[in-house]
Amino acid sequence: MPKYIFVTGGVVSSLGKGIASASIGALLQSRGYKVRIRKLDPYLNIDPGTMSPHQHGEVFVTEDGAETDLDLGHYERFLGIHPHKTDSISGGKIYFNVLTKERRGDYLGATVQSIPHITDEIKEFISSDITDEDFIICEIGGTVGDIEGLIFLEAIRQFANDIGRENALFIHLTLLPYIKTAGELKTKPSQHSVKTLLEAGIQADILMCRSSMPMSDSERKKLALFCNLVPEDVIVALDLDNIYKIPLSYHKEGLDVRVLEHFGMLSSSREPDLSRWEEIVEVMEHWEREVTIGIVGKYCGLQDAYKSLNEALFHAGLANRCKVKLKWIESERLEGKTSSTVEEILSNLDGILVPGGFGYRGVEGKIIAARYAREHKIPYLGICLGMQVAAIEIVRDILGIQDANSTEFVKECTPLIALMHEWDQGGLKQKRHEGSDKGGTLRLGSYPCILTKGTLAWNIYSQDKIYERHRHRYEMDINYEQELAKKGVLISGKSPDGVLPEIIEVKDHPFFIGVQFHPEFKSQPFSAHPLFRAFIKASIG
Ligand code: GLN
Repeated sequence: MPKYIFVTGGVVSSLGKGIASASIGALLQSRGYKVRIRKLDPYLNIDPGTMSPHQHGEVFVTEDGAETDLDLGHYERFLGIHPHKTDSISGGKIYFNVLTKERRGDYLGATVQSIPHITDEIKEFISSDITDEDFIICEIGGTVGDIEGLIFLEAIRQFANDIGRENALFIHLTLLPYIKTAGELKTKPSQHSVKTLLEAGIQADILMCRSSMPMSDSERKKLALFCNLVPEDVIVALDLDNIYKIPLSYHKEGLDVRVLEHFGMLSSSREPDLSRWEEIVEVMEHWEREVTIGIVGKYCGLQDAYKSLNEALFHAGLANRCKVKLKWIESERLEGKTSSTVEEILSNLDGILVPGGFGYRGVEGKIIAARYAREHKIPYLGICLGMQVAAIEIVRDILGIQDANSTEFVKECTPLIALMHEWDQGGLKQKRHEGSDKGGTLRLGSYPCILTKGTLAWNIYSQDKIYERHRHRYEMDINYEQELAKKGVLISGKSPDGVLPEIIEVKDHPFFIGVQFHPEFKSQPFSAHPLFRAFIKASIG
């Protein structure tokens, strides 16, 4: 049986529980253990697929097509393992499952209650779909004290008792605010948070405190005393300027040693090998060059909305030893502007990236950005919607079809991008139509793509067949292929049946490529995604 580590958070939200969980996993992995991380989000949406990026940040898509919390992206990037559908669940899905079972009569007429029915459903999730993992880390979303989170705390309390306390560890992450006038880090909020957790029957085994500065011995002792811990189990989680420095910092604080001691595994554990983490930190401290990439998007105010994209660009920077500076440009700012104003906004960029998105707002601005990049020979990477706008721009300008558009935005148009009613997934035809539910009904997850030999895409991947992750409803019409090819615009990647364009590229250009999928989900710090690596290389070019 694996050992279970439960990570909860207190005092405030946004403390970085996801990155903390991923870092704990990375430290265990560096000692040769097999680690799996799961996220339990107490909110009542079935999944984050329909939640606004403004509120919830990016929706991360797994290989097997689940729309999940962005923390799963951190897990994948830190551990290099693909999370599954079975690694993410929400309170809404738990209740949905229980109510579905109730309607089916599975409870044989019993009164359905929070305990045991909801708690059992949560416990079943925690222990399902496990093979030979040494550690399962379960991050509980939200903040201790939230009403909808209580039932999750109750479930993990029970679970630890069920498997034996020696097989479970509770890590609680809190905040030590620094009060300037007093010149002190304050421990009281953390004390209260540990008490709130105790009210739910859970004694934290390790307390991790986010802090802007190191903790003094007296602060550590005070926290230990009030929180029922030994001082070694009070660990500071220092604010750092880059998330990939965190595993090394936790290791310095002795976190992995304390975790293994709790499980009685320290003496049998091998020494950690953290060299790959040290290598990337070394690169980010000695950049050799710098580029500025303009991201022309819709949710530029909130960087969490483009989390994986940010990270993928950073990974590509690591691979090229190049600091990637991002300039966020609200695409609506480009609309209805004179060419000199557009020039003012888009000049001085080494590369332009148009990310994915939904809805018409800002689309015409993205089309302007794609045209500017094509005409001025600035490296362009279009992702999902970014490919669709590039295709619309090209068909309008090069083929002269002025009303080319996507039926997502305009019903009366030449439908270059339109709803596909059927496509193939694992041999099964998937059907979608206008009236389909909004949740979980997109083309989601990993699909194969066949690359055309000799094209830019084929050179970048050095492979004939690739797998990339999708999250979209609309597709480009393949029937424009011949006419576009005559004008030097290639469809260089297609679905295996040749029906769905997956990649377009412009020939007579240093780097102009649009992809219908989301390569950012698969990029990792130790192995940047080839498309991003090539895009940054071209931008340096
Ligand atoms: N809105 C577009 C579609 O549904 C693009 C989606 C995306 O960029 N992820 O096809």
